[in-house]
Amino acid sequence: MSYLASLWTQLIAWVSTHLVEPAVLFLHIADTAGNPLEISEALLIALLQLFIIGFIFRPLETLAPAERWEDRKLTRIDRLYTLLMLLGLFPLFSYLVLTPFANMLGGLGGEAEAGPAVSSGLKHWVPWFEDHPYLLFLVYYLVYDCVYYWMHRAQHAIPWWWALHSMHHSQRQMSCWTNDRGSYIDGVLQSFILATVGLAMGVEPSEFALLGLLSELVQNLSHTNVRFGFGRIGERLLVDPKFHRLHHMVRDPERPSLHNCNFGQVLPVWDILFGTALYGEKIRPTGVSDPMVDADNDRGLVGQQWQAARRFWGAVRRPAGWRLGEVSFGPDYAPIPSDEAEHLPVPADAGPAGGAPAA
Ligand SMILES: [Zn+2]
Ligand SMILES: [Zn+2]
Repeated sequence: MSYLASLWTQLIAWVSTHLVEPAVLFLHIADTAGNPLEISEALLIALLQLFIIGFIFRPLETLAPAERWEDRKLTRIDRLYTLLMLLGLFPLFSYLVLTPFANMLGGLGGEAEAGPAVSSGLKHWVPWFEDHPYLLFLVYYLVYDCVYYWMHRAQHAIPWWWALHSMHHSQRQMSCWTNDRGSYIDGVLQSFILATVGLAMGVEPSEFALLGLLSELVQNLSHTNVRFGFGRIGERLLVDPKFHRLHHMVRDPERPSLHNCNFGQVLPVWDILFGTALYGEKIRPTGVSDPMVDADNDRGLVGQQWQAARRFWGAVRRPAGWRLGEVSFGPDYAPIPSDEAEHLPVPADAGPAGGAPAA
């Protein structure tokens, strides 16, 4: 492990000297760009993640698909979402918004403040954690993941939030690229919530990076179109592709609450604890039954963002947009409770580009 760690450090240093520093000098942003070592680490993490998705998860979709597709047309836009997120938007957003936000809250001194940092967050309240960093990290992660679970339930229960989150669910060909498909308004909202939790608990930025990569990879795998899971015990410890595929199932009119399941991001324990876990169900088509949202599949990236924003605006300014419950979107993007919207035309199946279970 220490060999791997030193290899990683050397790689960061190499990329920093040979790529990041020359680039920063060339662009004349040396004063504002920050530590080149941190930039090259972030870049390497993004590339590592892309490599794992493209060269491990993607081939698995060919070897053992959950759904067989005639083509992969609908997955292309999700790949674009992933590339944009990893190589452009996320670093930019972290640098321009999240870091100043963190500094504003005063939780993170970063490199600027030399000397021993003052304990903040959990370490401040429970000094015992100071000597048990791994346990502390575990507790951070548990809280982070639990907050994510409740936030995700809110994304489904609050109509204006579903207006945005439904874009993530509209994909009929859910694949290893789907995790980053989502409304950018939603992304900003989620980042602020999760960053606030991290800051309140006193997580260091370096811990954030590791936390981020690990949970991102679990999420990339959980969207992958494969028919295997982690087994009877494993699937209760970590969210696997079967578990999250059920979360993405199209609403079944015969069992209309079945799809309200498996909200966990990385740990299924919250679903088990709060009664939303669903296991043992056969693979079902993914997507949404609301034709207004399903139409996302015919749109490009800008069109999807724009439509999600319009749904959001249609919901957030109406009282119905704040009444908890499942909704579809009617004329002028007004949210309509799904039971009442049942008479609306529903696509007969998951659509021509959706697939049949391969098993
Ligand atoms: Zn969801
Ligand atoms: Zn998902």
